[in-house]
Amino acid sequence: MKVLIINSGSSSIKYQLMLMPTAQVICQGIVERIGSQEAVFVYKTDNDEITKIMPVMNHKEGLEKIAKLLVDPKIGVIKNAGEIDAVGHRVVHGGNSFSKPTIINQTVKDKIKELAALAPLHNPHNLEGIVLAEKFFKNAKQIVVFDTSFHHTIPTKASKYAIPNKFFDEHGIQVYGFHGISHKYVSEKAIAYLHKKESKIISIHLGNGCSMTAVHNGKSVDHSLGFTPSNGLIMGTRSGDVDHAIIFYLVDTLGYKLDEVKTLLTRESGMMGLTGYGDLRDIQEEAEKGDKNCLLALEMNAYRIKKYIGAYAAAMNGLDAVLFTAGIGENSNKLRDLVCTNMEFLGLELDAELNDLRNPEIREINTPTSPVKILVVPTNEELEIAKEAYKILTFSLKEH
Ligand code: ADP
Repeated sequence: MKVLIINSGSSSIKYQLMLMPTAQVICQGIVERIGSQEAVFVYKTDNDEITKIMPVMNHKEGLEKIAKLLVDPKIGVIKNAGEIDAVGHRVVHGGNSFSKPTIINQTVKDKIKELAALAPLHNPHNLEGIVLAEKFFKNAKQIVVFDTSFHHTIPTKASKYAIPNKFFDEHGIQVYGFHGISHKYVSEKAIAYLHKKESKIISIHLGNGCSMTAVHNGKSVDHSLGFTPSNGLIMGTRSGDVDHAIIFYLVDTLGYKLDEVKTLLTRESGMMGLTGYGDLRDIQEEAEKGDKNCLLALEMNAYRIKKYIGAYAAAMNGLDAVLFTAGIGENSNKLRDLVCTNMEFLGLELDAELNDLRNPEIREINTPTSPVKILVVPTNEELEIAKEAYKILTFSLKEH
């Protein structure tokens, strides 16, 4: 069964064509820095590897380019679009409606659209990917896997906000949690690595969006993003935690309109707002050259992560491992160093040399005597989605 995975992020589209159930990757790639004249387009097969810098102004353009390459007479990997049996999509917000992966129909699409109000940077791109994939891959079953599902185990004491009960009971205003596909995949890898029956893990996903999850015995028990993917850590363009009274001040005193506040906090804040750069590679480069704003932004970012590590260790009454994943977590030895330095009291002892090494596999970067393991675990949301898509499809074939 050929399963195409489409993971439409806020500024990137990752894609993989996989043969299931063996999980053999037929081709894979990424379109990064979408929205810029210098987007990076990567396409890899066993025989070819292409990296092109080109303008890709929106997700539609990116997906069209991917669909064309797959059937390209020279370097394509399929003869026609009909060869694809299923397309698995990552959708960020499933609200309370979706606790499991689902086959797409009009009702599902309508619900994803409705939930876009809660994930304005993501659900619209996810839905666009679904609609385009239906057009390009007409014979394929379209399946969605939600980022919120893994967090359905968060207890009410952690998922409920201290606002009147009716907002929880009648309006579903609560912590939903995000990046669940990634947190589930990497925490399962870490648990297998630790060889422990019972485990207390903090999973730190640092990409353009950033979040942390307390994972107790394989289950999400607390999480830094909330009702929407806005709060918690400092992100690429999102502020993370701010005192909500700032919103009233912006509106009542500084004359901002509400939609301007929304744009300010979700698209113009975070590392972008602090430095003028949205990409951590640029920020690190400028910090090395002595840019004070970039240096401070890196320190602020790491400090926020440290505070959440302390909070989640307390929530679980202990800690076996901290794991770093996603674009920044896997690649930025600088940020990992800032996070793990001066954390010996909690049992984290970073090995500077191991931290600087690169390795595509799960690896330990702590000293041999560190009471708590510090792991770098490459995430693979695409594989997790392919597994779920295969599972749901084989089940539905058996049913008919
Ligand atoms: P998303 O899926 O949320 O779009 P990713 O997980 O792909 O994000 O991560 C994107 C981020 O990873 C970017 O901010 C980028 O700067 C960062 N990144 C990628 N490679 C490196 C690297 N070598 N060093 C530091 N940061 C990196």
